[in-house]
Order: sequence, then structure tokens, then C-alpha cells
Amino acid sequence: MKLQGTMRINDRGHLEIGGCDTVELAERFGTPLYVLDEQYFRQNCRNYNRAFMEKYDGEVLYAAKTLLTLAICRIIAEEGLSLDVVSGGELYTAKKARFPMERVYFHGNNKSADELKLALEYKVGRIIVDNQYELLMLNKLAGEAGVHVKIMLRLTPGVEAHTHEYIKTGQIDSKFGIVIENGQAMEIIKQAMALENIQLTGLHCHIGSQIFEMESYTHAAEVMLGFTALVYQETGWQPEEMNFGGGLGIYYTSADEPQPVSKYADMLVPAVQTLAKSYGLITPRVLVEPGRSISGPAGTTLYTVGSVKEIPGIRTYVAVDGGMGDNPRPALYQSRYEALLANRADQQPEETVSIAGKCCESGDMLIWDINLPAPAPGDILAVSSTGAYNYSMSMNYNRLPRPAMVLVRDGAADIIIARETYDDLIRNDMVPERLGESKVVRMAGAN
Ligand SMILES: *Cc1c(COP(=O)(O)O)cnc(C)c1O
Repeated sequence: MKLQGTMRINDRGHLEIGGCDTVELAERFGTPLYVLDEQYFRQNCRNYNRAFMEKYDGEVLYAAKTLLTLAICRIIAEEGLSLDVVSGGELYTAKKARFPMERVYFHGNNKSADELKLALEYKVGRIIVDNQYELLMLNKLAGEAGVHVKIMLRLTPGVEAHTHEYIKTGQIDSKFGIVIENGQAMEIIKQAMALENIQLTGLHCHIGSQIFEMESYTHAAEVMLGFTALVYQETGWQPEEMNFGGGLGIYYTSADEPQPVSKYADMLVPAVQTLAKSYGLITPRVLVEPGRSISGPAGTTLYTVGSVKEIPGIRTYVAVDGGMGDNPRPALYQSRYEALLANRADQQPEETVSIAGKCCESGDMLIWDINLPAPAPGDILAVSSTGAYNYSMSMNYNRLPRPAMVLVRDGAADIIIARETYDDLIRNDMVPERLGESKVVRMAGAN
């Protein structure tokens, strides 16, 4: 496993993160446990700040869907980033954390009237409108609320980023955004310009996720600016800001070669500037929405090894006390991860094993074929790069309580998400009176 952020192996041979011995973290807080490296998370924020805001006067929106809690909102606010939210729940979290609402951008392909009303009430900075239905509903709601709302339009530029098919969103056949190529985008821009409660400030696109090819972004810039030139010709309107979404790839395994944020900025922004100039347009302010590349590498999940089942000549299954409940990505996308034994991090690998989760699904496998020192019950397995789309996608399948998350820094560990209890699991269960205990006996013979 590649050591990232503040990870190191201490003199006890244990994996340490943020100055905390992970074996001690496992003992103190239990497993499975999400560990978030605060310094690394902040460093990733700062890299974006420097590359886009300081150098080019751009804006960086952290994609909340990758990992959002009240504490994360506080860190994002402190680091001076803006926030991209995609639901009423994420919006509410930001509000409760007292995140500055003018720095909130509200996304989503099917925002409800209630969610839009909440966004208007909270006075979010922008609403990224995904389709015509939403545009008309928002105009009506803004009128009823007596407000003028700033929006951007999400377009589908038809750029395919090199990534896993399921997480591609830039192609034309997508549930997200308005298609440029067939004229629908031009129509909706004209419509938005004519609506009395709407102020169209810019355009948005998001070409995919886990992207390593920086040319995908410059290609998106070419499509977006080329289209903008047509829009300007036909309507006289041009965007003051352009949002290129997120998607920068991170290191999960040695197959991944992440590009530095500075390279991403230095390819994208000058491309936008040059294109704008060549078309005689004002240069729009460039916005980006990184999620995974901020939160992903900063997270590690600790598990305790239980059963080790060897099928001679076939495979050894090493079962851990979590799995698809806390990390659905391998089951959903066949995502790959690296791991090590945190309590024996200084030992050489001697066996190829596969890491199984504890859910009742054969597909609940966290890692196929990984080399480790022969794992034994009680070992602590650390899986790296689990900061993004793990907790936020976690679930209670098999009624497994979701793990706690600790924020580690300089030897201190603070819980930022409490571990769920069995009582949390039944908190929303209701038993109708006709199913009450006194009825159980009679029901057997009733008809
Ligand atoms: C998911 C998403 C992001 C963040 O993508 P990452 O790959 O996590 O950087 C940004 N913008 C939009 C619109 C998204 O859907």
C-alpha cells in the first residue's frame, strides 16, 4: 500500500496517520472505523486554492457528495472553498454548520419544489439548473418568494472522459444536463434570458470522474467556448463564469497515475483564456468542483480480520467486520483498493489473499488478490483512499450499524461521526397497533 498524506510506519511496526497509531485507534474507537487525515485533507484544499484561486482568480467548490458532515463543512469554510451540494440534506447540513450560503452552489438533476424553496430561503449563491422543467419551476417559486435568483445551466458537452463507464456523465446519452449538439441548450438559454426572476450568470459541465487525461478538460473547454461563441452571436449574452465540474483522478492502486492539481489548472484556465480571446468573448471566471481529489486520499478504513478461510488450490478468503455497507464501491463499480495489515505494517507480504466483507452477498468483496503477510484473526486491516464516496454511500444492509469517523491530526483523534448503535437502526421503525404484542397469539388462528 502506498503511504499517503501523514501516513508512516512507527517504531512498533504500526501504521500511523495524523500522528495516531491506527492499532490504538482501532482499540479505542472500535472497527470498522473511518480515519480522516485532517492535514492531508486541508493540503488538498490548499493545492486547489493555490492553483485556481490565487493564480487565476477562479473559484473552487468542494463536491459535498463525496463526504459531508458538520465538521467537514467547518474545514471547507476555513479553507476558503465554496461548496457544491446536490440535495436538501446536503444543503441543510451546510446551513446547520453555518457555512456561508453565498458560497453554496446547488446541483441536481431532479430537485424538488421543496428543495428549491429551501435553497431560495437560505439564499444560496447559485442554482445549477439541469433542465427546462426545473427552470420554469424555479422561476415560478422565485416569483412567489419575491426574489431574483442567480443560476448557471448544466450542459452536456458530449466529451467522454477516460474513465469507468458507469461514472461517465459527459456523453450526450446522459440523465444529466442539456444537450448542446441538438440545439436544446441554445433554446433553454434563450428561455432563461426571458424569465423575469432568473439571472443567468454562467454555464456548467461535468465530464466524468477519476480522470487522468488532462486533455479531456481542454477538449471540454473547446466545446463550451465554441458553443458560447454561437450563443453570443445569436443572443448577445455571454457567461461571466464557467464551471468545469470535478473529476480529477486519485491514487487507489498502482494502476492510477494522478495528475497534479497545478497541471490541471495550468492546462484548463489558459485554454479558456485563449479560446475566449480568439472568439472575441470576455474571459469567464473559471470554477471547478473537485470532490474525490480532496476527500478521497485523506480517508483510510480500519477493519478487524475475523475468519480466514483457505480453499486449498483455489483462494484464501480473509473476512473483515465491514464491507459493502461502509464501502459499496467495489460492488457497484468493481473499484480497486490497496491495503496493509496496520499492526504488522513493517512485515513483507507472503501470501495472496482476497478480502471479503460480511454482508450476505457474494459480490461483497473489498479486494481480490492482494499480497499481505499471512492474515490472522484479530489483525487490523487498513484500506487506503476511502475518504470519498464511502461514508457518503454507506448503508445499513443486513442491519449493520455504520462506522464512526475520527479526524486525526498531530496525535489527536476526534470523533466527527458517531458509530451507529442498534437503537439507531430501529429508531424509525413503527409497529402498527394491530401488530402489537397482545395480538400475536390471536393472529395465528385469525382469518
Ligand atoms: C460528482 C460531481 C463532482 C465531483 O466529482 P469528483 O470526481 O468527486 O471530483 C463535481 N460536479 C458534479 C456536477 C458532480 O456530479
